[in-house]
Amino acid sequence: MFAGMNITLVSPYELGRQPFGLAEPATLLQHAGHQVRCCDLSIQKLDSAIDVHTELVAIYIAMHTATRIAVEALPKIRQLAPNAQLCVYGLYAPMNVELFRAHGVPYIIGGEYENGLLEMTEGLRSGTAPTTGAPTIRLEKTAFVVPDRSALPTLDKYASLILPDGTGRTVGFAETTRGCKYFCRHCPIVPVYEGRFFVIPADIVLQDIRNQVAVGAQHISFGDPDFFNGPGHALRIVRALHDEFPALSFDATIKIEHIVKYPDEIRILAASGCLFILSAVESVDDEILELLDKGHTRADLLGALDIMRDAGIDLAPTFVAFTPWTTLQRYRTLLHDIAALGLIDAVAPVQLSIRLLIPAGSHILHIDGIRDCVGDFDPQILGHAWQHPDPRVDALQQQLQALVMQAEAAGQSRNEIFQAVWQLAWQADDSTAPPLAMPATERPIPRLSENWYCCAEPTCEQLVSF
Ligand code: SF4
Repeated sequence: MFAGMNITLVSPYELGRQPFGLAEPATLLQHAGHQVRCCDLSIQKLDSAIDVHTELVAIYIAMHTATRIAVEALPKIRQLAPNAQLCVYGLYAPMNVELFRAHGVPYIIGGEYENGLLEMTEGLRSGTAPTTGAPTIRLEKTAFVVPDRSALPTLDKYASLILPDGTGRTVGFAETTRGCKYFCRHCPIVPVYEGRFFVIPADIVLQDIRNQVAVGAQHISFGDPDFFNGPGHALRIVRALHDEFPALSFDATIKIEHIVKYPDEIRILAASGCLFILSAVESVDDEILELLDKGHTRADLLGALDIMRDAGIDLAPTFVAFTPWTTLQRYRTLLHDIAALGLIDAVAPVQLSIRLLIPAGSHILHIDGIRDCVGDFDPQILGHAWQHPDPRVDALQQQLQALVMQAEAAGQSRNEIFQAVWQLAWQADDSTAPPLAMPATERPIPRLSENWYCCAEPTCEQLVSF
């Protein structure tokens, strides 16, 4: 008789969303005959799902912060399940092979990880798996299944949507694609997917959302790296959703280049319930945008903003505010433009202090001359440390990071925090800040109760406790 394994899948953290990357592979492994428990560390404790009978613990690491938390959780996992095999899977797993090897994790699977998980568990169950699996980046089509999310914490435990009038909506989370067809140099997806993206079939996505609506979701946050890598696929899904659930709203992430390229499709999103679009604007400086190979210019940002406002969708921009090419003047220009474009309330304050993260294999390392300020890979920060040629810029970034964290903890508004950031940006070289002019377009926008960012700003202890 087939004896499945006792498996626990752990998600350290995913920006307050109920992880597809936990629920879907858990369902797949259950279909293969294993007993699977899930632990979302952002809400649950390890001992709720791991014990001495656990034979395999696989940790899902989709982002930098999750990777840091995973490393810190390993000793407790070993203590709870001393005989369990260990695996990490997800985007950040193959980028941190040496780190996880050093922590005694033999199985490392990146990219489209489902088949790798199935093969590894089959090998472990039958005793044919090598003691140390070769780290793999799987880039093949997956036979996706509709995730059974019933074993995860309920949606009301996760981030919610906050509307401008202060009311909230319960948020579900879905993905329609993984990977990305672009090569932005700073993006952690590029070293793994190298310009490829994979579609999750529409019937799987729709059923997953139906299931979440049935348990209370009123808004869906689409977590695709870019919702318009396959615009036809995305539109098919949102049209079908709107027909079935006319009151359901959603948000998605779309690059500026795509917003400019697909204005008609943006209007269709608006008519289908899209409230806001997150976009990795990164910079308003054309030279920096060129270095990052972002595929858009400052003029494109203005064009995209016009298209979005015309369609009635809010833009929530994210930035890499501090790069080796960010001067004090360029940083002040960024702040000036955010204010002048009426985006102060649309930008989460943490975005004003984000510093470029250079993970292992980052294409940033291909930029001529970058090695002058970038050091070797540092396992402490899970990336390459770098120093700005002007120490005042690094000092400003650190002051801003502390300011933003304290101000948010104190409950200050985005506007209040922005004013303080503006002052500090001018004090960095003892200049006097000019008055801030704000246009009439400045107004609150819908937002999720947890900020989007891809590198670690809060400490792990603030996000989880094991
Ligand atoms: S930054 Fe966005 S568009 Fe660029 S490679 Fe990454 S996911 Fe794709």
